[in-house]
Amino acid sequence: MQEPLAETAPTTRPDHDKDRRAPADALVVRFWGVRGSLPSPGADTAVVGGNTACVEVTGGGSRVILDAGSGLRALGDELVARGEHERTTLLLSHVHWDHVMGLPFFAPLYMSGSAIQLVSGAVPGMSLHDVLAAQMVKPLFPVPFEVVSSRVRTVELPERARVAFGALTVTTAVLNHPDPVIAYRIDYAGRSVVYATDTEHVEGRVDARLVELCRGADLLIYDAQYTPEEYRGEVGPSKRGWGHSTYEAGVDVARAASVKTLALFHHDPRRSDAQVSEIVQRSRAIFPSTVAAREAVSLRFEAASYRCDLAPR
Ligand SMILES: [Zn+2]
Ligand SMILES: [Zn+2]
Repeated sequence: MQEPLAETAPTTRPDHDKDRRAPADALVVRFWGVRGSLPSPGADTAVVGGNTACVEVTGGGSRVILDAGSGLRALGDELVARGEHERTTLLLSHVHWDHVMGLPFFAPLYMSGSAIQLVSGAVPGMSLHDVLAAQMVKPLFPVPFEVVSSRVRTVELPERARVAFGALTVTTAVLNHPDPVIAYRIDYAGRSVVYATDTEHVEGRVDARLVELCRGADLLIYDAQYTPEEYRGEVGPSKRGWGHSTYEAGVDVARAASVKTLALFHHDPRRSDAQVSEIVQRSRAIFPSTVAAREAVSLRFEAASYRCDLAPR
């Protein structure tokens, strides 16, 4: 297949043959689902990928999974195949459908002996447990959450939290979305990634909470669902108030916080591979170290440098 995306950032180099497992001194980010709103399989989206939000972060023998979108199914299958499914921690940005729809299809959920920790910010009006149970109720889904919930622990974090999950230190901040959502910063061995999806910028200023969270991070994964023209209503209806952002606003945050690399994420379900590539090029014109988040791509951050591993899984 022709590669339509000039994916590798200037500071990365492709490495097709090396073992993709993380050495103990590296922070590794691997994308399993990068799409927003709704899965979008098809020939036009095959390169970027059609699964909704799911990102695996590992370091020092610890792992956290960011969001449980449809990309979680394949990750669950791989964890089982590797024999690494006994303890998993999922950090949910929020509980909109595209961020939790993969959970009922996460194989470790149905395996005795596997313990699953589900973490989120506050969920107004309901507990996290009850929200997740609500999508697994007959006749919507054949297996009720109660069948598996004995192996599941839910945790709702306060607004600004700092928690260690094994070797990984996780810090949170509240973002701007129609329902409550939080961003996660994960630090390990002097490296850091911030996951900030489903957030809408305020035109003319950067989000001070997000800038503080991102300060000096190696990677910012940012909601770039709309082009600036779409956002402002110059193409179709205005997207103001819909809870999502643009690559331009991502660049503003990245610059203000001295972030090294920006990964555009939560691609619109209608966005073709060619259109994602075009948006990346536009972003690189103002922030050269931009990449598109896409399935099967890993970013590895080691002590002195990092590389982008483009090997398919
Ligand atoms: Zn979303
Ligand atoms: Zn959302």
